[in-house]
Amino acid sequence: MGEIFVLVEHRQGVLRDISCEMLWKANELCTGLSHTLTAVLLGGKDEPFVNEIAERADKVLVVEDDRLEAFNADLYKGILSSLIQEHKPFITLMPQSPWGMDLAPSLSVKTGFPLATDCVDILVEDGKPKAVRQIYNGKIFSKVALRDADCYLMTVRASAFPPDAVEGRAGEVVKLDVPADLPEPRREFVKFEDAGAGAVDITQADLLVSVGRGVGEADNIEPLKELAEKMGGLLSCSRPVVDKHWLPKYHQVGTSGKSVKPKVYLAFGISGAFQHVAGITGAGTVIAVNKDKKAPIFRVANYGIVDDMFNVVEALKEQLS
Ligand SMILES: Cc1cc2nc3c(=O)[nH]c(=O)nc-3n(C[C@H](O)[C@H](O)[C@H](O)COP(=O)(O)OP(=O)(O)OC[C@H]3O[C@@H](n4cnc5c(N)ncnc54)[C@H](O)[C@@H]3O)c2cc1C
Repeated sequence: MGEIFVLVEHRQGVLRDISCEMLWKANELCTGLSHTLTAVLLGGKDEPFVNEIAERADKVLVVEDDRLEAFNADLYKGILSSLIQEHKPFITLMPQSPWGMDLAPSLSVKTGFPLATDCVDILVEDGKPKAVRQIYNGKIFSKVALRDADCYLMTVRASAFPPDAVEGRAGEVVKLDVPADLPEPRREFVKFEDAGAGAVDITQADLLVSVGRGVGEADNIEPLKELAEKMGGLLSCSRPVVDKHWLPKYHQVGTSGKSVKPKVYLAFGISGAFQHVAGITGAGTVIAVNKDKKAPIFRVANYGIVDDMFNVVEALKEQLS
């Protein structure tokens, strides 16, 4: 019987959703393959979420040390690589987050095991894992085979799987010592600084009118701002709008912006790149307006309008007044 590893991501004593999502997928794979599910927690002393993980795994390997409380790629790589060499897990799942993007490539080099990044699904065919990844901005799914190896490394995209609880696992918590030969890290964690809510807090809004690059230029944002005000909501945006300095950063939704949970999310001229969509998984009803009927945003939208966004904005404003 083999084993599947999941590297648990946490921040400031809080378990990240991506950890539960990876554990959900690992549970599905382990059930199909009759493998055991091992969560690997590298963290500070007595992290408060150990039991939450144990309910989703067969075993939790815990390495506790003050130096591990905040993510450090050098230390995490040292510990994880020796655990992988010892246990030879069939697959090790890591988050496609700043953690995984930093850690996974160098872990692959150190262990010599192949890596597939940014997986949105993982299949096992003829006893070998295949990674499902998106290309062309999410328009095409590709199925990627890896060269034959004893172990495979994969990073998993946020929101690719549900963070739901799993049935029938009650993990034993095994505390391990920090390896004696752990190298001195080349980087040091200084402090955690929250970006702050800014002048408006889009994370608390019930209604967001969100604007994408399709708006064309800064001056065109005004009608959308008026619409948001008329509807009693706030204005949010995609990253290019911030990059172009059309709106301040605190309006940005997505992986490098804010995760939002409005009851209604109106997306105007937003294509629906995964980095954006990952920020609206908590939204209630998503309504997308895009002139391209093939835009990926329509895959996640509850309602879609294929039209020029300015026609729709004017029509809505007229209705409201
Ligand atoms: C590490 C990393 C982190 C990232 N983080 C984020 C993030 O946090 N948030 C984020 O949003 N992105 C993020 N991105 C960028 C992301 O990959 C996309 O590039 C971005 O989301 C695209 O923004 P957009 O949809 O506004 O623009 P585009 O992809 O250019 O889409 C514009 C859309 O507008 C439509 N359109 C054009 N004119 C009109 C019109 N008149 N009426 C209606 N529709 C129209 C077009 O059909 C198109 O679909 C990140 C990227 C990287 C690499």
